[in-house]
Amino acid sequence: MSFLKSVLKQYDLVVDKLKLDDGVRERLRYPKRSLIVSIPIEMDTGKMKVYKGYRVQHDVTLGPSKGGIRYHPNVNLKEVTALAMLMSWKCALIQLPYGGAKGGVCCNPKIMSQKEIERLTRRFTTEIICAVGPEEDILAPDMNTNMQTMAWMMDTYSMQKGHTVLGVVTGKPLVLGGSMGREEATGSGVYYMVKESAKVIRKELKGLKVVVQGFGNVGSIAARLLFEEGCKIIAVSNSKGGIYNKRGINIKNLIQHVKENKKIADFPDVDNITNEDLLTLDCDVLIPAAIEGQITRYNANNIKAKIIVEGANGPTTPEADKVLHDKNVLLIPDILANSGGVIISYFEWVQDLQFYFWKESDVQQRLKEIMRNTFDRVLLLSREKKIDTRTAAWMLGISRISEAQKIRGLYP
Ligand code: NAD
Repeated sequence: MSFLKSVLKQYDLVVDKLKLDDGVRERLRYPKRSLIVSIPIEMDTGKMKVYKGYRVQHDVTLGPSKGGIRYHPNVNLKEVTALAMLMSWKCALIQLPYGGAKGGVCCNPKIMSQKEIERLTRRFTTEIICAVGPEEDILAPDMNTNMQTMAWMMDTYSMQKGHTVLGVVTGKPLVLGGSMGREEATGSGVYYMVKESAKVIRKELKGLKVVVQGFGNVGSIAARLLFEEGCKIIAVSNSKGGIYNKRGINIKNLIQHVKENKKIADFPDVDNITNEDLLTLDCDVLIPAAIEGQITRYNANNIKAKIIVEGANGPTTPEADKVLHDKNVLLIPDILANSGGVIISYFEWVQDLQFYFWKESDVQQRLKEIMRNTFDRVLLLSREKKIDTRTAAWMLGISRISEAQKIRGLYP
């Protein structure tokens, strides 16, 4: 099943529970606006190559749309649409004044030079400029994009407008109006969610056995924070495969190893393991932090983790959700678990609009407060209604948007 189909299947389940009117159900099923652009750039060889880019704005009822930009060979309109929809539910669940959007370019940045990526980024930004802006649609990093990409986007937008516009992009470097804590935001949020979940199953963080799939921005930061708290990170992986040591992996050393451009498979004192086997290891906490569609009906039954905290967007299919719920696994769904990124993005945008910047401790305190409060709301609803946590989180998000739509009324 495609990712979009699986997201729509989940959507149908939730709106059935919410008993939404057919019109409202139909309205939220489709994005408000989808943009497909072609991006011609000059490669370092002097030849021209044309890439395809997307920006989908799913909903803007609660405020401007907000969402990341992904550079990956698998990026396509359906994937971006599904991710934009998840962003709408996420922002509404967290009670941010945003709708959901997502964007991306179908490319393989791993085989492109920095100069080529810069040209691609600047041309892509120019092609979607008609639809973005600090009050319309705010961009952010996602897979294979980072602070540098965001700085180029902000610069390109500002050059076109004729003045510096900080709030069009979040996830920027500090010197360009970025926020304290933004780079670690999503990983920090995942870490807070593991902490809260451990309390629910009455376990200490110290000694907790953790497995992390995906050792990028989200996975490596969550792993480091948990490692510093005394968790035993017994396995991690990237797209090439994973490593395993039942006594635990020294994550600080592994991060240094990766910084030195060494393969994680070459890290000392570990066994190599496939991504499939990694997911079903005997552990307390599983953090899928790579890509969608990893936990499916084929492997859900073999998952041994008691807690799953979804760092990635859409790592679990609806069929697997049911299996995990029946197995009593405490699952913290993506729209809550990885919301640290958009929460600190929101803080960054607020700081940019006010030209007034906060201390790191203020940022962390506010992030923790919002995430804990949302965690409690999701768990409470899931218990009250005897439903799984994903359904509860989606119900909270979708009902907030439909309520706002009802009050706004239908234009014209
Ligand atoms: P990243 O590019 O920094 O890291 C992704 C990691 O996953 C890399 O280690 C990569 O090798 C690995 N990977 C890719 N394909 C894989 C596969 N098939 N099997 C195993 N590992 C694989 O990306 P990121 O920013 O850490 O994002 C990871 C996930 O978190 C994505 O789903 C993204 O949408 C989601 N997310 C990210 C943020 C953020 O702020 N970065 C916020 C919310 C959600």
